[in-house]
Amino acid sequence: MVERSQGNRAFGPRTRGCLTLVMALVTGTGWAQEALLDFASPGLAWTAAAVRTASESAAPPEFGSAATSAGGCVTHCAEIGRIWGELLAAARAHARLDQAPDWQLGVVQDDAVEAQSLPGGRVVLGEPFVRARALPEAQIAFVLAHEIAHVLHQHERHLLTAALALLPRDVPRTVADVYVEMDFNLALLRRLEVVMHQAELEADETALYLTALAGYPPADSLGFLETEAAGERPVAHVVSTHPAASVRLERARRFLPLAERLADYGQRQRDPLSDTEAGHRGTPFHGTDTSPAHTVRNSSTF
Ligand SMILES: [Zn+2]
Repeated sequence: MVERSQGNRAFGPRTRGCLTLVMALVTGTGWAQEALLDFASPGLAWTAAAVRTASESAAPPEFGSAATSAGGCVTHCAEIGRIWGELLAAARAHARLDQAPDWQLGVVQDDAVEAQSLPGGRVVLGEPFVRARALPEAQIAFVLAHEIAHVLHQHERHLLTAALALLPRDVPRTVADVYVEMDFNLALLRRLEVVMHQAELEADETALYLTALAGYPPADSLGFLETEAAGERPVAHVVSTHPAASVRLERARRFLPLAERLADYGQRQRDPLSDTEAGHRGTPFHGTDTSPAHTVRNSSTF
């Protein structure tokens, strides 16, 4: 999602999604019937469509310059396209949404852009970021899955709803009105920090699950946060939109056992004849030889 815009809540859809997931794991039943990543979201301000429209109007310039196909990429086109397709397949199979996002990936040649997303399903990835960091496939997948997770969780809508709740009551406001407040009201942004941080942690967790379901070993995906944490330097922010990388890494590590289970499940779904639950561990089962061909249908802040 975009720099200023992340959101979440303490209880609700995310918790229910986890419970669905855990119950299925515990009982060993219901896999085929349940959506593993269930993010239905009641109790939010505005409609999802209104948030989509307003966010498109307020989108950073890189979304406007992003190509609408894989043509935006230069050096990693096939790799990025295949990973994107695999993640979308996993998201469509396991996330139950009231309104399906219009997924579009834009690849831009902008050194300042890492990855961002908009509520309607548009994701922008900076290819210079991929090159400069020499990101392996599992880490590219984690970066893209993190952005997909923001969309699945409707984090922008949650953040906007939290902002509305923090502003003076009884004044009708549009989404655009709240965006203006978030652009100029520093006190509001500071109060929203906790909401933004929670959304980032949540997106990391879901990214770990989504990449696992798509076939990427969770320990490999987590390598992205390990590198981030290792290179982190203390920086004072007026408003911090993201938790420290070390905090993100420590929290994400807690979900590794569950992600490993999902990786096993995803492997069996793709290949019913595959061996046991431990079949993928220590073996990079995800490879270009066996992955289905996907095409990026449409083409920095992480
Ligand atoms: Zn994020």
